[in-house]
This record gives sequence, structure tokens and C-alpha cells, in this order.
Amino acid sequence: MHSRRSFLQKIGWATASVPFVNLGMNQFSAKPLSGEKPLRVALMGLGGYAGRVAEAIQNCKRVKITGLISGTPEKLQRWGAKYNVPEESRYNYENFDAIGSNANIDAVYVITPNALHHNHTIRAAKAGKHVICEKPMAVSVKEGEEMVASCQKANVQLLVGYRMHFEPHTLEVIKMRHEGEFGKITFFQGLCGFRIGDPTQWRLNKDLAGGGALMDIGIYAINGCRYMVGEEPAWVTAQETKTDPVKFKKGVDETIMFQFGFESGVTASCLSTYNMNNLDRFFLNGEKGFAEMRPSTGYGPIKGKTHKGEINAPVVVHQTVQMDEMAAILLDGKKPLVPVDGLEGLQDLKIIEAIYKAAATGKKIALK
Ligand code: NAD
Repeated sequence: MHSRRSFLQKIGWATASVPFVNLGMNQFSAKPLSGEKPLRVALMGLGGYAGRVAEAIQNCKRVKITGLISGTPEKLQRWGAKYNVPEESRYNYENFDAIGSNANIDAVYVITPNALHHNHTIRAAKAGKHVICEKPMAVSVKEGEEMVASCQKANVQLLVGYRMHFEPHTLEVIKMRHEGEFGKITFFQGLCGFRIGDPTQWRLNKDLAGGGALMDIGIYAINGCRYMVGEEPAWVTAQETKTDPVKFKKGVDETIMFQFGFESGVTASCLSTYNMNNLDRFFLNGEKGFAEMRPSTGYGPIKGKTHKGEINAPVVVHQTVQMDEMAAILLDGKKPLVPVDGLEGLQDLKIIEAIYKAAATGKKIALK
């Protein structure tokens, strides 16, 4: 049996090279490895999450911000000065196709509202750059398929910003499942939600968000269920409730409960909501044991326990580790334990569409 440390080493996570955040301690800043080619990234959409990613990249071993794309000249100026991105590598949404001739950019990280991912990803791919696209990858299966096809055609890679796929507590549970510690898996529960504020934000606008809580936060329960159980769901049922139809307009889901069935007999029960706090919990049950994570997908620190006791894994800045790992995927062809490619993003979109259909019809929807 592998120890946790040897497992982390096996998957390229020797603890000494992981940027830690210990509670109450300063962040451990990893030094660049000499001789390793850095991934040079252009950030697109300089909003809240891009700010978090940009700060996290400052502690990456092999990722550099070398381009910026924004519709706001003042942001380009401010971010350019802060992250040392020269004027010729700053673009807006009209002219960023010219990024193709910028030899200092390897990849574009799309961090714009959901409904823009399709257009932004396809244009970045056509410019010949790898794409890292935030979740949800798109707002429909059709769009997702077109993005995968465009990236294939342009011979560039498409990755989705699934930061939890590199999170050590999460990987520890997956490793324990691989090693049979839980026995046959029987059940998963995923609770994901928060009370959303400002009613004017794009997340509550169907045209920009593509939906509501399910697209934004419920996707963590869907994706988490898949990597925790280690199997694709075969069917879904779903029920929607809405207490505030003014704030949550038509097509913007407030709360959806959904259930999955799996060929192996595993069942799952999940909650996605924009109207309740304190929901960030995964529970995985097996015939020989269990894992419980809370918080399970927030920015951390992620905490968890199993039937064997507390999970003692490194506490990391998710986006720092994600970006260094993505550099290894894009530049070295490294294979992550849990995929983060376009097909992984597309599978979540297929499930999202099935959940919406199940909620609208009250029927059990089969997933191919
Ligand atoms: P945000 O509103 O803070 O930022 C969005 C940015 O897009 C802004 O800078 C805005 O100016 C820009 N933008 C460009 N065109 C726009 C348009 N037509 N309308 C509105 N804004 C436009 O949002 P965010 O929280 O940074 O989310 C951006 C993306 O990142 C979303 O897809 C979201 O799901 C994803 N996200 C992922 C995580 C994660 O943990 N992986 C966390 C937060 C957000």
C-alpha cells in the first residue's frame, strides 16, 4: 500500500515542491525550476476570479502572465503595470485575434462570463493558442462540442479550470478509493450552494450565465460526484424549487435537487442552490468505509475525514497548483489523475442538460 507521501510523489506532488498555505503562516513561495520552459499565459476577462488567478500565478514555479485581454483600457493599464505585461501584449475583445502573432503567449485563460466562453475559446484556438477555459466550459452541449472540435482542428489543447482535480485532500480520497479502502462504493452526496447577492450581476442573467446555480455552483457536485465515485452516471432525476421568481427569472435556477444512478448500483443525491449558505459538503460511502469533506470545493482550506481519521494532506493555493500542473500538461504532455480536458468539461455539460430536462419534465433521463 502507498503512503500518502509516496502517492503524492508518484503524481508529481512531492510535498516539498507544493506551494503551501498553512493557517496562520505565511505562504510558501516555490522558486522557478531553472531550465524548465515556463507556460506564458494571457488572462482574458479581468474580473474577480482572474484577480485571484493572477495573484496565485505569482507563486507558480513555471507559469508567467505575458498577456492581458480586457474591454476596459484602465484595467489593461493597471494590470499591465502590476504584472509587468508590456503594452504590445495587451488586447481588447475586438483585436485579440492578433494574439496569434505574439510569440510570447502560449495559452489564453478565458475567465469571462459563461456564455462568452464559446466565442472566446474558438477565437483563441484559431489564433493558434492553447486554451484554459473556466467552468462551466460553455452553456450548452452543442457549444461545448464546437469548442472541442475547434481546438482539435487548430491543433491546440483545451483545458477546463477544474482546480479541485489537483487539490491534495481530494486526491487523497480518490487514491483511497483506488486502493479499495472504502470497499464497493454505495452512495455519494454533494451539497453545493450559497446565497447570491446583487440581483443585477451577470450570474443572474440567463443570456450571460446560461442558467442559474446549477451552471455556476451545482457543477461542483456533478463533477465531484464523477471523480469521487469514479464512474459515469447512467441516469438522472431532478426537482426544482424557486422561492424568488423576481430575482431568479425564467431560465435562472435557484435550487435544484438531483439524483444519479450508476450501472454499478451506486446512487447519488445532490443539491445545487443560490439561496442557502453553509453548503459545501461531499460524502462518499462504501461498504468498508466513508469519506466526508467539508469544505469540499471552496477555496479552502479543504478539510476532510474518513473512517480512518482526519485527512492530513497539504493545504495549497488551488490556483497556484492548478496552473503549475496545467503547465506540465500543456508543455510536457503530463496526464493528470483526473482529466481536465475539453471532453471532461463536455461531460458535465451533458449532465447539466439532462438535469434541466429531468427537472422540467419530471422524468428519469438516461445518460449515454
Ligand atoms: P466577474 O464578473 O468578476 O468577472 C467577469 C469579467 O468578464 C469582468 O472583468 C467583465 O468585465 C468581463 N466581461 C467581458 N465581457 C463581458 C460582458 N459582456 N458582460 C459582463 N462581463 C464581461 O466574474 P468571475 O467571478 O470572475 O467569473 C468569470 C468566470 O470564471 C465564470 O465563468 C465563472 O464561472 C468562473 N469562475 C470560476 C471559479 C473557480 O473556482 N474555478 C471561481 C469564480 C468564477
